[in-house]
Amino acid sequence: MTESTTWGERVAKRALALPPISDFPLVDELRRVADALVAEFPDAIERAIIGSSRLGEEIVSYAVGEGPAIVVLGGVHPNEPIGFHTALELLRDVAAGEGPAAEFGARWHIVPCIDPDGARLNESWFADPGDRVT
Ligand SMILES: [Zn+2]
Repeated sequence: MTESTTWGERVAKRALALPPISDFPLVDELRRVADALVAEFPDAIERAIIGSSRLGEEIVSYAVGEGPAIVVLGGVHPNEPIGFHTALELLRDVAAGEGPAAEFGARWHIVPCIDPDGARLNESWFADPGDRVT
């Protein structure tokens, strides 16, 4: 096998190395996992409450790295919850200094769940996404 050289190949290789998933995290799990990463990488991740939802839930940003700002929002459309997984895996990578994103030379502002109210309205099918289309 030849070594991947392009950015796209490196990102694809990283994505394919992730463990398979069969469900999507609920809002409380998203927060628990992201906050556990803060505990694991306290010198790398800066946690900040950046606002609140209409129903009063905190919206939290996790910032990592130095350089031009890149903002990543999970759950912009809460019926597309793959972004929740993406945000958590990205946060883990950049905090650990692993994977192609960690080499980007940026300050990542990762918000795993930008719309907790909408996400909670969708949580009933997150455990079995196949149910959504039946
Ligand atoms: Zn969308």
